[in-house]
Amino acid sequence: MKILEVDKLNLGFDCENGFRQALWDVSFSLESGSIHALVGESGCGKSISAMSILGLLPKKARVLSGIITFDGKNLLELSNKDFQHIRGKRIALIPQDPMTSLNPLFTIGYQLLEVIRIHQSLTGKEAYQKAVEALEAVQIPSAKERMQAYPHELSGGMKQRAIIAMALACNAEIIIADEPTTALDVTIQAQIMDLINEIKNEKNTSVLLITHDLALVREQADFVSVMYAGRIVESAPAKEFFDNPRHPYSIALLNSIPENRGRILDTISGQPPSIQQDISGCRFHPRCKSAMKICSEKVPDNYGISKSHFSACFMNKGNV
Ligand code: SF4
Repeated sequence: MKILEVDKLNLGFDCENGFRQALWDVSFSLESGSIHALVGESGCGKSISAMSILGLLPKKARVLSGIITFDGKNLLELSNKDFQHIRGKRIALIPQDPMTSLNPLFTIGYQLLEVIRIHQSLTGKEAYQKAVEALEAVQIPSAKERMQAYPHELSGGMKQRAIIAMALACNAEIIIADEPTTALDVTIQAQIMDLINEIKNEKNTSVLLITHDLALVREQADFVSVMYAGRIVESAPAKEFFDNPRHPYSIALLNSIPENRGRILDTISGQPPSIQQDISGCRFHPRCKSAMKICSEKVPDNYGISKSHFSACFMNKGNV
């Protein structure tokens, strides 16, 4: 069952030199109890897509068109007041850097209780019990003592667990995990991802995993959407994607993973375009080894490889 659907989202920013478009026809959906990975290089539009879902777009952002459907409502039409019943309560965010998300002046317990009071309408002993349970659920040892700790007294992994506890305490139906392990070392990364997976399985939570880490996606995701320069260029069930990637950008990304020792790694020449650059046709064409004449002239459609696998590349035209 689809719990969230982003349909043809077009969005941009009012810059000093005029309006610059950042997302083109971005469409994807999230199935209940699944992990959908949104993959791509920095600046490709992953995080701004997530912020659109949470109603946290910067002031200079302007939505041109599109619909984001959750629980029968278009999130793009909600007022800030209406969003308070959804953001943090039904759709929660696990940010990249837990240190900048926790207030250093307040204890973990204070911040957790505040979330529970606002979103669960619990107070007193009930709220305290819920907060302790949430810390225990994310395997923070001596949870009652940690309630008194300030963020600087916890390690990076523990801080990220505390953030996940806030999402758990509100029984969020959707967790948006924006590069949730980037700021952590490798062992802790694995523990945090295992924890997110456990929560998904136990509570049937849906997870939108935003990442540039394809190894992580291979291990964790059920479905993959690859973004390049503001567009989704390939989307597929994870197994199908890794067995049979079809877009030249996806193939180049996979070939640049340092998996097999002794193999010279492929690189993708050039840089992703900035928002200020105008690129005609396929936005990947200046870096694509397979580019043809048509690629700089026309924007490729999303061509079907199978019922649930799509690639926006002229080479995949006429597959189904
Ligand atoms: Fe490369 Fe052309 Fe396909 Fe774009 S449409 S990925 S430039 S072959």
